[in-house]
Amino acid sequence: MDKKVIGILIAGALLAVIPWLGLPTFYESFIYLVLHWIILATSWNILSGYTGYFSFGHGAFFGAGMYTTAVLTVNFNMPFLWSLPFAGLVAALIGLAVGFVVFRTRKVRGELFALLTLAVTFVLATIVLNTPIDGGPGVYMTSVAVPKFGPSASSSIYLIALAVAVATVLIAYLIHGSRLGTGLFAIHDDEDVAEVMGVPTFRYKMVALCMSCGLAGLAGGIHALFVSYVTAGETFNITVPLTVVLMSVLGGTRHWAGPALGAVVITALQYAFTAGDSAVVGKAVTGAVLISAILFMPNGILYYFLKRRKKAGLQAPVEKNEAAAVPLSDGEVITRAPHVLSNEILLDVREVSKAFSGVQALNKVSFNVRKGEILGLLGPNGSGKSTFINVASGHFASDGGEILLGGIDLARLPAHAVSHCGVARTYQIPRPFAHMSVLDNVSMAAMFGSNSLDRKASIREAWECLEFTGLAAKALSLPEDLNLHQRKFLELARALASRPQLVLLDEVLSGLTPGEINEAVRMIQKIRAQGATIIFVEHVMRAVMALTDRVVVLHHGQMIASGLATDVMQQPEVITAYLGKQHA
Ligand code: ADP
Ligand code: MG
Repeated sequence: MDKKVIGILIAGALLAVIPWLGLPTFYESFIYLVLHWIILATSWNILSGYTGYFSFGHGAFFGAGMYTTAVLTVNFNMPFLWSLPFAGLVAALIGLAVGFVVFRTRKVRGELFALLTLAVTFVLATIVLNTPIDGGPGVYMTSVAVPKFGPSASSSIYLIALAVAVATVLIAYLIHGSRLGTGLFAIHDDEDVAEVMGVPTFRYKMVALCMSCGLAGLAGGIHALFVSYVTAGETFNITVPLTVVLMSVLGGTRHWAGPALGAVVITALQYAFTAGDSAVVGKAVTGAVLISAILFMPNGILYYFLKRRKKAGLQAPVEKNEAAAVPLSDGEVITRAPHVLSNEILLDVREVSKAFSGVQALNKVSFNVRKGEILGLLGPNGSGKSTFINVASGHFASDGGEILLGGIDLARLPAHAVSHCGVARTYQIPRPFAHMSVLDNVSMAAMFGSNSLDRKASIREAWECLEFTGLAAKALSLPEDLNLHQRKFLELARALASRPQLVLLDEVLSGLTPGEINEAVRMIQKIRAQGATIIFVEHVMRAVMALTDRVVVLHHGQMIASGLATDVMQQPEVITAYLGKQHA
């Protein structure tokens, strides 16, 4: 078994012994509170830390669990333990209902999501206060029988909280290293790109939200019995979400153990400084400690210390295949690789249109691409080339027309499904996942692309693609450490890692030096030799001439010419489009 899993289980087992040590009850209730916050902060982090969708609604889901248990045990005489699954379920269902509406809207990200989730808390509080669920006076749970696990009632509640805390941390850990976790972290960095690379973003967010809310609901159910008097004012207030956010941010949201660490630190601080006579001074000290911790460790305590340890203990990675990173000499002439074109049509574009508030970016564009072909998509700036790639890759929905790939209409598919059909693309302005290493950026494409490789196989594939693009020496760097040429090649490596049958390249050569262009042209020739079909958007004519079998020229969203590059570039309407009317 995984060492960390064993570690979490051992920590749980050690803590389980505490009720039998005969310590003063204060310790037990203090550790209970730590566990309580560990569950809340860690569950919050599964959605909000991993995906970056900061929720301020965790109080709502926690409260939903609290009231579910209170109502079921008090009004329906359900045994406490039986009520717990319902507490989790009700919270998860409310979460799913919110997610179902909110996650469908592209605009609801960032602050808007945070505010919306906060609003859910107030709506729920209003419902609870104005219905028989509470009605105002609160719900007393003193009559509810506490199941007997430990030597006392409070120790039994402690043990239940411990079991749920261990389960929550385990879940957070397992998700962190899983395919789901990789997808969630990609959503965090760039949701649109994640979707285009094959991550089913809506489903992943729903799964994360469901788990996050369900676990918060469980924490609520347990806490209802702990406090034994449930009131809406105590439950649905801003303190719960603020505390979990603070704990997670302090500990580190990108690490599975960050929120748990934050929960320990903050609960301990609260007790150490605010108990006794000096409560006011204590609060100020707690605030000061938190502010300085966040100022000096903005990525969280865990990240800060792990990074320091890495810096001290880790040498630069083995420089793999350094030779490939050396660009070819500037003067080298690129030649056309001999290629016999198949007659089989791979992509059939029929009357595709796309408008942006009045600008007709694509106007009934029709052309086809043969299997194994490199088709140049040309046209002056603003002619609709990138829009075509955006529509074909599912980044934007088209307004009409069909894009048929082997009989499947890509225009009707969500972006992740387009990727699963074997379509990969690059972005004109590189959009790497900023917090992932270069290697992870590429392996993620292999993991979610048409082959859906497992983690090990996708890392192997990623190394190959990085060697192919000459980036192996940079594999463990973050994208911010790459220069433009390397970023462009990273885009290329990501596109290749999914082993696509169709690659859409959007100006991969712009901004490169002549030597780098030669290198890239060679690479694109090799990609085709491996069996891929390529749509190549480019302004560098020398590369267009060397690479393309045919070209299609767009102007104001309309196709104005198609055929061999040498012929098409002579046509008067193409010259006019490129140089303006006065040159015609
Ligand atoms: P190209 O890649 O050929 O330079 P684009 O496809 O990027 O051109 O743009 C075509 C037209 O569509 C331009 O007029 C551009 O301003 C417009 N356009 C492209 N993307 C958007 C967008 N997201 N919102 C509004 N207008 C856009
Ligand atoms: Mg463009």
